[in-house]
Amino acid sequence: MSEKPTPKCPSCGAERVKKYRPFCSKRCADMDLGRWFIGAYAVPSEELPDEFDIGMDDAPPPGDSDDGY
Ligand SMILES: [Zn+2]
Repeated sequence: MSEKPTPKCPSCGAERVKKYRPFCSKRCADMDLGRWFIGAYAVPSEELPDEFDIGMDDAPPPGDSDDGY
């Protein structure tokens, strides 16, 4: 009864970091937030709005740029 349960990162189970609590890192916090965000937007609709396609066709083909990346 003397030991408190050690809080763990709910995302990956690692030790949480005070700065990012209740997560262990910004990555896990973002991951969890993203999951929640996606869930919140999971509307029972089969068709996506046209806005979802904007930007997809404008993206340059991968590996075709020469800016030293
Ligand atoms: Zn984590």
